[in-house]
Amino acid sequence: MKKEISQEKLRLVLSKEEILRKVKELAEKIDKDFNEEPLILIGTLKGAFIFLADLVRNLKNPNIQIDFIRVKSYGMSDTSSERIEITKEIEIPLEGKNVILVEDIVDTGLTLKYLYDYIKNFNPKSFKICALIDKKERRKVEVLIDYVGFEIEKGFLVGYGLDFAEKFRHLPDIKEVIKDE
Ligand code: 5GP
Repeated sequence: MKKEISQEKLRLVLSKEEILRKVKELAEKIDKDFNEEPLILIGTLKGAFIFLADLVRNLKNPNIQIDFIRVKSYGMSDTSSERIEITKEIEIPLEGKNVILVEDIVDTGLTLKYLYDYIKNFNPKSFKICALIDKKERRKVEVLIDYVGFEIEKGFLVGYGLDFAEKFRHLPDIKEVIKDE
């Protein structure tokens, strides 16, 4: 069982204003790259649900479709034997389409690597990755992220869709969980 954490044990890392500024920048870059070309954005559940919602509302492209994928990881994330399983499939056909996978946070990179290979198999016309947070400390596999919001060295983050044992997803800012000494 994970320990309960009170809101007092959280430290502000990214304010909602900073996040929104960055999301707007990312949306501008995506609009510049795709103009009005049809584009499918796939959010990874559950963590990316707020990020995806804000991102698509800042895109000017009128030809956007949205889908979600959900993955579950098993095993300890500090071993390379982690097993990843898809628990909600993508429903829109991706073959020949422009696709962007929208991730909340990339940590070891194992989830992203798995999803990258999985989506590539559908033969999209183009395939790019957008991640709000690139957390480098525990990276195990190299993954290329085309659109990065913030680079953060370490820490366990909650808020803006990110949870700790299903808590704190609703917080508008991103905060770090302060560990007990
Ligand atoms: P990876 O496979 O890159 O190690 O892990 C990616 C997934 O782990 C993310 O999509 C997210 O669900 C979870 N994760 C990684 N770091 C954090 C974090 O700091 N906070 C939260 N809430 N989830 C994280």
